[in-house]
Amino acid sequence: MTRPKPLIAGNWKMNGTLSSLPELAEIAAAVRDGAGEGLDLLICPPATLLSASHGILGDAVAVGGQDCHEDASGAHTGDISAAMLADVGARYVIVGHSERRADHGESDTLIKSKAEAAWASGLVAIVCVGETDAQRQAGQTLDVLGAQLDGSLPEGVRAASTVVAYEPVWAIGTGRTPTVDDVREVHDFIRRTLAERFGDEVAGGVRILYGGSVKPSNAAELLGVDNVDGALVGGASLKAADFVAICRARV
Ligand code: PEP
Repeated sequence: MTRPKPLIAGNWKMNGTLSSLPELAEIAAAVRDGAGEGLDLLICPPATLLSASHGILGDAVAVGGQDCHEDASGAHTGDISAAMLADVGARYVIVGHSERRADHGESDTLIKSKAEAAWASGLVAIVCVGETDAQRQAGQTLDVLGAQLDGSLPEGVRAASTVVAYEPVWAIGTGRTPTVDDVREVHDFIRRTLAERFGDEVAGGVRILYGGSVKPSNAAELLGVDNVDGALVGGASLKAADFVAICRARV
């Protein structure tokens, strides 16, 4: 089966102001220079910068939200709907990031609703899963991931509408990464789990990203692992030079 087109996605988290936009202009210039060839590229800036980011990046680099509410509109002060993200040019939205699961107590059931809301507005849902260090030490990694996939992915997953991001919680922002063998084992497991539920064809087309301390120096190794179809990059996506170097590292 042919591998899906890799996706390199940047997650700026709660970082970035108008003064950060030149980084995006630099990414756009590098892409015009061939940096993103053969890849889909995505930047998820804070919602305040979505519209401006889309204006700078144009069609070559997609923009996406970092979260959405499960409802399309209504009395939810401070929240943003998938429809609103789409309205300002977003094509993707991250749901179930471990920081939202931890900081906002988001459950698998809620994340599933958010993925459905994303689809309803025509967005690709990037559904994040990942084990904590304690779960890993206890040998529970695959059980935890299996339960998260089961609970967070809605029925009707299609390759065009859904990306899965494996982000070990202990690797996010820590500089620590799993071994290549561990990444391979988890990504194989995710692919098998998708195939059991959605069939081989869908499972083969869904992109499974690795996320957690991806940087220019380790990107080639991580992106070269079987069943790794791209990366979700946090800290290293804030600097255009690092993000572009990660894009260029893909083997
Ligand atoms: C993330 O939060 O999605 C992430 C992968 O962060 P970092 O690359 O900084 O570990």
